[in-house]
Amino acid sequence: MITQEMTERVETKTPGEDFIISIDNLNKWYDEFHVLIDVNLKVAQGEKIVICGPSGSGKSTLIRCINRLEKHQQGCINVMGHELTENTKDVSAIRREVGMVFQSFNLFPHLTILQNLTLAPIWLRKISQKEADKLAWKYLKRVNIAEHAYKFPSQLSGGQQQRAAIARSLCMQPKIMLFDEPTSALDPEMVNEVLDVMVTLADEGMTMLCVTHEMGFARRVADHVIFMDEGKIVERQVPDKFFTQPENERTIQFLKQIH
Ligand code: ADP
Ligand code: MG
Repeated sequence: MITQEMTERVETKTPGEDFIISIDNLNKWYDEFHVLIDVNLKVAQGEKIVICGPSGSGKSTLIRCINRLEKHQQGCINVMGHELTENTKDVSAIRREVGMVFQSFNLFPHLTILQNLTLAPIWLRKISQKEADKLAWKYLKRVNIAEHAYKFPSQLSGGQQQRAAIARSLCMQPKIMLFDEPTSALDPEMVNEVLDVMVTLADEGMTMLCVTHEMGFARRVADHVIFMDEGKIVERQVPDKFFTQPENERTIQFLKQIH
């Protein structure tokens, strides 16, 4: 018997899709304000994309649309074969596979670091406490903060909290990681410890979209760098070309400012 749910699944899957993320003619408005204009973006499995551009250009809005923290009004966003629509089953399916790390670490202040890491896997992935603990310890060690497992977030430095936030995302075993300026709120001496974790993740083959102005990271890790301005993707290049021969005048001006 084919249930309605199964039919919806079949309809929203696109077999043979080569891209893990496929965004076509995306348009979004905040009331009257046209924040994303005809955005097209395809991301292959394992690809690393760095997104940069001036403040207010729509970078956060774009990546928040990918796990539907923001709704779009026009166009199509397909993540791992699920189209993002009002269908909450698809939204939950995508959120289980897509991890997100924000500028503000968003750890639960009243939970220990270990509890922060085990909460979502137990509730959303329905794994046992024992399994969740095992995963949590694995990723705490991976980001080098195992000794802080029983502390509360406020007892950690910003860099340690952000590494905990990354470990928390990894405990959900995502297929895609979205980063929105993960080092922007950190004191300069803590930026590298977070970028190092991100580089390791990239080397392990994670599909990553990173909004960041850390251009050293972009050069080292990105397959493509995207430049956004006023709601549009105005340039997409491999890092070498992006930094040495950018084509768009606004990219050129932006690179002058940050160097
Ligand atoms: P960026 O991350 O590139 O700085 P954002 O995506 O945060 O840009 O914002 C793009 C534009 O949309 C900005 O002009 C911002 O003020 C506006 N904006 C962002 N979020 C909202 C919102 N929830 N409501 C209305 N306007 C918003
Ligand atoms: Mg932003």
